[in-house]
Amino acid sequence: MKCPAAVVRTAKAPFMIEQIDVPEPADGEVLVRIAGVGICHTDIASRDGLLGAPFPSVFGHEGAGVVEQVGRAVTRVTPGDHVVLAPASDGLCEQCQIGAPMYCDRFNELNLQTRPDTRSARLTDGGRAFLKYFGQSSFAHFALANERNTVKVRRDVPLKILGPLGCGIQTGAGTVMNGLKPAPGSSIAILGAGPVGLAAILGAAVCGCATIIAVDRVDSRLELARGIGATHGINTENEPDLAKAIRAIVPRGVNSIVDSAGVSTLIGAAVGALAIRGRLGLVAVPPTVDRKLEMPWFSILNNGQRVEGFVEGNSIPDIFIPQMIDLYAQRRFPFDKLISVYPFEAINEAVEDQRQGKATKVVLETGA
Ligand SMILES: [Zn+2]
Ligand SMILES: [Zn+2]
Repeated sequence: MKCPAAVVRTAKAPFMIEQIDVPEPADGEVLVRIAGVGICHTDIASRDGLLGAPFPSVFGHEGAGVVEQVGRAVTRVTPGDHVVLAPASDGLCEQCQIGAPMYCDRFNELNLQTRPDTRSARLTDGGRAFLKYFGQSSFAHFALANERNTVKVRRDVPLKILGPLGCGIQTGAGTVMNGLKPAPGSSIAILGAGPVGLAAILGAAVCGCATIIAVDRVDSRLELARGIGATHGINTENEPDLAKAIRAIVPRGVNSIVDSAGVSTLIGAAVGALAIRGRLGLVAVPPTVDRKLEMPWFSILNNGQRVEGFVEGNSIPDIFIPQMIDLYAQRRFPFDKLISVYPFEAINEAVEDQRQGKATKVVLETGA
């Protein structure tokens, strides 16, 4: 199968649209015609060589499309099905077996390709580009996915925008809906109003939080947050004391905090506004893997507070992605307000617009 793909030949190189030759699906594999694919921060970190992926590679891990062809022994989907592609997991390890596939023992190996899968596409110059990034490599018109990471979805919603539900949106909304599970009427503060933070706000609204405080340093993002359910916005440029600003809204402190900003000083400041028995959910990746976070030891002990990390919003994609789509169809989860659609060929421009904040969450449409 020949098709255009965004190939990255070396670390930090721009995406190059090239014709690739995708192999036929083998046992347990599914060939998906990509309708739209989101761009996530992790794609860019991998492109820049920070996460150990091999080169040349085809990245992309928020794909949505139509099943074109299935390999032998595939029973979950058939040609014509609409699917969202979720992160890969092996289905065999202890975490997969107890329903926590996003903590799969082989998560990094299968998704970030730290031990690259041998599946690769042939390039026109005779070279090869690795496929199977997040079990899909969906920056292409066709993606070779694993049966296990295809999630069949309903057909009466616009397929091309659904891809981000497989990672970015699932990460933010799932942290709240599957992870923190705030009580109806409770209060929550979301640090960072980028795509993941905004998705956390959507999740908080679904959970019935009465007070949803968006925290960011850009007014336009706070405005977008208000438009999708935030009841308050705090601009940290104007409010040097974040804990005080939060307590001005919720004097007893907030029941939950989600960090999607990844700034240690911001987390440290927000923790001062965590209520008794409040929970802090860490979602953003720290600037380096060995970075330490300083925590108020006595306060956490004495107030029974919790600090917890979340990967992909503790989601079981097979369950959670269809749930988000049902809520979207009922207009209770308007994640489409975060999305800007670009043509696939404009991938480098889209990455730059997302970086500059001109677009919140980009989806590339293939027109396929
Ligand atoms: Zn596993
Ligand atoms: Zn992602």
